[in-house]
Amino acid sequence: MQLRVTPRVAHDVKDIAHFIASEEHISQDRITGVRVIKRSIDARQRNVMVNLKVRVYIDEPMTTDYLVPPIAYTPVGGDRRQAIVVGAGPGGLFAALRLIELGVKPIVLERGKDVISRRKDVARISREGVVDPDSNYCFGEGGAGAYSDGKLYTRSKKRGSVDRILGIFVQHGASEDILVDAHPHIGSDRLPGIIERMRHTILDCGGEVHFCTRVTELIMNDGKVEGVVCADGSRYEGPVILATGHSARDVYEMLHGEDIKLEAKGIAVGVRLEHPQHLIDQIQYHNQAGRGEYLPAAEYNFVTQVDGRGVYSFCMCPGGVVVPAASAPGQLVVNGMSPSHRNTYWANSGMVVEVRPEDLPQQYAGEGVLAMMRFQEDMERTCFEQAGHSQVAGAQRMKDFVEGKPSRLIPPSSFSAGLQPSRLDQWLPPFIGNRLRRGFQVFGRAAKGFLTNDAIVIGVETRTSSPVRIPRDNELLHHVTVQGLYPCGEGAGYAGGIVSAAIDGERCAEALASQYNEH
Ligand SMILES: Cc1cc2nc3c(=O)[nH]c(=O)nc-3n(C[C@H](O)[C@H](O)[C@H](O)COP(=O)(O)OP(=O)(O)OC[C@H]3O[C@@H](n4cnc5c(N)ncnc54)[C@H](O)[C@@H]3O)c2cc1C
Repeated sequence: MQLRVTPRVAHDVKDIAHFIASEEHISQDRITGVRVIKRSIDARQRNVMVNLKVRVYIDEPMTTDYLVPPIAYTPVGGDRRQAIVVGAGPGGLFAALRLIELGVKPIVLERGKDVISRRKDVARISREGVVDPDSNYCFGEGGAGAYSDGKLYTRSKKRGSVDRILGIFVQHGASEDILVDAHPHIGSDRLPGIIERMRHTILDCGGEVHFCTRVTELIMNDGKVEGVVCADGSRYEGPVILATGHSARDVYEMLHGEDIKLEAKGIAVGVRLEHPQHLIDQIQYHNQAGRGEYLPAAEYNFVTQVDGRGVYSFCMCPGGVVVPAASAPGQLVVNGMSPSHRNTYWANSGMVVEVRPEDLPQQYAGEGVLAMMRFQEDMERTCFEQAGHSQVAGAQRMKDFVEGKPSRLIPPSSFSAGLQPSRLDQWLPPFIGNRLRRGFQVFGRAAKGFLTNDAIVIGVETRTSSPVRIPRDNELLHHVTVQGLYPCGEGAGYAGGIVSAAIDGERCAEALASQYNEH
């Protein structure tokens, strides 16, 4: 049954039951249960409403069947079929779980630490300005998605695959709400526990997980990948799912050195924009009083074209914090995350400009396929230098940025490494800065109050997607351009978030297992 109710009614199943009883002219006593199956907020009109799809039980017992049935994982390893999974981000973890389902033993190699030990290292970035090149917001168990908003929506049209991934998250401890909400998210406080449980499933089924194990070389034989060598000299043999994410620049260098085909690809570059959340609530819910008791922290999504390039909001984190997301010393990069309740004072999002390979300045002309990666690195280095060689990021008030004025005082921010006033309007490359300014003007006209000096821009956001693609031939060669190598997830250029990386991990596992079955 489809319902359209106020946020107050949607908040409590008893109120939903009461609403149904009065709409259907039946006694509420006859309703034995109501189960919400889908939920979305419609904030287009002045009166914000909630659309619900519900299962109503009338004169019958309520069932508590699974919205997505759990998967029965059973032990593997009896027949010596094994595969190396490099990287324990969503791509690698979901690949490993799928390999288990398909009877192949996964050996997961992760350069960083386990998801809990990682916490200390991410805290040190803010506290001491120290970035551990193997354990940070991008590297370590759970990958870049571990300390994130854990937004789980994707543009993928394959509903079945998305539901499967969400079901596996629920099986490992995520709330069933993620199967119900139109814009599901888990939150940075809940993700680590879920990731730990996934690791236990892998280990309990006979898989292996090795931390602090950085892969440095591929074992090649006759043009075929037969395993990997790690920084500590250890070697592992088997076909390789390479799920190392888009921040592992050393991996791109290694592949380039091995003559493995890479393709140039565009990215998006810009800033993190941070508003007080109550301003976003007022704008998005059309109410000076803000979101009230029953609505979640409001989101936004802006997109426009400026001089032939997209300018858009990216990875919006309502009720979240801005985090220092560098993955090596000498870089400054920002990103955002939020806890499950999305209840901080702030709202942030990436505000980025599409950059295509042909947009790069002349100085990158000789860099070939790695040109975009070099540009990305240089932006992060410039940002670090502008911050006086520290993680105390440069910031400017939003309107000042648009009007080309300095900001003397930066208002309080969630960014725990600290901020300092900086002329981002002057030092961002003009082909990015100018488009951003014009984009902000467009967004300010579309949403009154959005373009304000109560908001700040923080530099710089560069890790929006992979700067290269590792091509593969899906149809003919079962994902393989080099036999034995399965480039996977965001680092390979085939995913752009947690869910799409997870789906891709599963596909790579299937391709690998099918090769085993053919031989
Ligand atoms: C702060 C932050 C917030 C984000 N928020 C969201 C969000 O809310 N929703 C969303 O959908 N996406 C979000 N993202 C993006 C999302 O995290 C990525 O799209 C996703 O994690 C990509 O998955 P992946 O498995 O392909 O790669 P990654 O998650 O990057 O994982 C790669 C793994 O490989 C390991 N690795 C790298 N090199 C080596 C090596 N040589 N040897 C061994 N291991 C190696 C790394 O340590 C890492 O664990 C966020 C990212 C960040 C940084």
